[in-house]
Amino acid sequence: MNFGEIHNWLRETDEGRLEELWALADEVRRRNVGDEVHLRGLIEFSNHCVRRCAYCGLGAHNPNLKRYRMTAEEILACAHLACELGYGTIVLQSGQDSGISAQWFADVVTKIKKATPLAVTLGLGERNAEELALWQAAGADRYLLRFETSDPSLYERIHPDLNGVKSDRIAILHQLRDLGYEIGGGVMIGLPGQTYETLARDIDLFRQLRLDMIGCGPYIHNPRTPLAQADDELRAADDMQVPNDETTSCKVIALARISCPLANIPATTALATLDGQSGYELGLQRGANVIMPNITPAEYRALYEIYPAKAGVDQADDYHEFLKERIAAIGRMVGTGRGDSPGYISRTETSTCAT
Ligand code: SAH
Repeated sequence: MNFGEIHNWLRETDEGRLEELWALADEVRRRNVGDEVHLRGLIEFSNHCVRRCAYCGLGAHNPNLKRYRMTAEEILACAHLACELGYGTIVLQSGQDSGISAQWFADVVTKIKKATPLAVTLGLGERNAEELALWQAAGADRYLLRFETSDPSLYERIHPDLNGVKSDRIAILHQLRDLGYEIGGGVMIGLPGQTYETLARDIDLFRQLRLDMIGCGPYIHNPRTPLAQADDELRAADDMQVPNDETTSCKVIALARISCPLANIPATTALATLDGQSGYELGLQRGANVIMPNITPAEYRALYEIYPAKAGVDQADDYHEFLKERIAAIGRMVGTGRGDSPGYISRTETSTCAT
């Protein structure tokens, strides 16, 4: 699908036509990644952050947030819980925490890989090439780093450089790929200042970057962030501004699936926050094949407040069973094994053959 077609779909309002988009995305999903829904256990292990991303509640601009950093033992206990629940992957996510030393974290990854068969996905923000290489050597399999928007001037406004060092997430994604990681990128949908044209370019970039994982969810207004104040000033004219609503979020999931048929695409927590009743189901029926249940210990979960009222913060102990039932109710089944992206598998098999 080319840029023009993506752009037209993003602006489509006819319900009948949109049904065609949902059906096409669902069929492409079924043919390329099947009916399994892979569950990734999300561990938000630190909310310390040195950055000042204008959209995010964890930023250094928020002095009122109580900060935490889990110990290696606590992280390991979560990894064991993920195994007990039958998950094939854990996602270790944090703020960009300069208090996490590269070696300490490499040791955590090594311990997890020794003690469990889990695939390990990382999301620690923008770390330097040596650190990323060290963690890959320690056994980390995948890295998530959303590029947030492909519009350089909007990016600069919402994602300030740190200590004069230019932030270039797209360059880091290339590095991660060269290091041998499965790579994940994505954007927020409906950021103030995001136009339909920008968003169409974002989706086109998913394909150009050949992402193995694509995470996209609605932007959720957080009053405790700089963007809450700049919202009006940044917003594009009404007929250009992308809304941060459920239908637009689903369009992005569907178009990402059609553009990158082999990618792993989650129905995100942000989508479930917007629509607690059926956000996950709609995502899964419109192109997604992954859910990332939060397995962070309850005492920390509420403190990882990137935006308010995040889904899953006060989830019950039997949430996992509830999720399984919801997946079964839409005729799908919980995935087994690591759930690597088929694109990544064929990429690594080809390179093995070539050497
Ligand atoms: N420090 C890591 C993890 C950040 S949280 C990193 O920077 O990669 C993961 C994602 O949450 C971010 O990439 C961003 O896309 C999303 N996010 C942050 N604030 C948000 C908000 N207010 N609404 C919706 N999504 C948000």
